[in-house]
Amino acid sequence: MKIAVFALALLLSVFITHAQTDPAIAKSGIPIEMLFPQGKSKALILSYDDGPIQDRQMVALMNKYKLIGTFHLNSNKLGTQNYLTKAEIKSLFAGHEVSVHTANHPSLSTLSKIDVVYEVVEDRKELERLVEYPVRGMAYPFGNNNEAVVDAISGLGIEYARTVDDTYHFKIPEKFLQWHPTIHQFAKAYFVEGKPDNDKKELERFYQVIDDFLSTKELAVLDVWGHSWEMGDNTVKWDETEKFFKRVANNPSIHYTSHIDLVDYIKAYRNLKFSVEKNIVYNPSSMTVFFKMAGKSYSVLPGKMMDVSN
Ligand SMILES: [Zn+2]
Repeated sequence: MKIAVFALALLLSVFITHAQTDPAIAKSGIPIEMLFPQGKSKALILSYDDGPIQDRQMVALMNKYKLIGTFHLNSNKLGTQNYLTKAEIKSLFAGHEVSVHTANHPSLSTLSKIDVVYEVVEDRKELERLVEYPVRGMAYPFGNNNEAVVDAISGLGIEYARTVDDTYHFKIPEKFLQWHPTIHQFAKAYFVEGKPDNDKKELERFYQVIDDFLSTKELAVLDVWGHSWEMGDNTVKWDETEKFFKRVANNPSIHYTSHIDLVDYIKAYRNLKFSVEKNIVYNPSSMTVFFKMAGKSYSVLPGKMMDVSN
């Protein structure tokens, strides 16, 4: 009797297993997962605000470690004391992204809609005159935003807007116009002068997040934000910045990217066209897109159709 039950159970399990792997049933549920360019699973965004003169040192350090930065600038501050000059913007940030931070750095939620629009469009227009390409990214001054502000900047050609609400995770944000970063550079270390114990604790917290990013097997975006003026002329803080850069540089599993390039890539991935059977994919974008389907990695060239049947 026991043997008969066992045999029946075995037969049933074989039947069920077979039913679950029947391609006709399984096709519609094939998981498709984005990969970053070159099939990488991690992407790094380094995002700095305000355009102070210390950006020169920051860019030099990034270039030394082949890192890519995104720099959010206030065009009406450029050329004033402690800020970069307009004349140097294009050459200084070559290979990096220049992005909107509004013309005058106000708290946008306190402004009327027309003033929000003015602050964003004026900055965008002037930065585009300086760098000679469409400027499509933004960071909110003080991180300050609300639904009315988001509504006001929609339709102004801004494709992402970064806040200062640290998530401490690596997921791609749902709303690109409220793009919450992973973490402030060095967490909350150095926020209060003369508290070395706190600095040590916050630095540990910061490097824990960095190490979690480096070790995760999931698709991950690390978005670190800050200001080069926070380092000022303090060599300890600049040395710490270099230590951080060294830790994330030259890693074959990381895609180093400006913020807008990552947004463009995510949009290209989301615009892939799959056949119902998921055996054909078409990539209408102008970039090679990488993805994983049923555990296998693929790359589909720009403008091309590809057979992805296994
Ligand atoms: Zn700012």
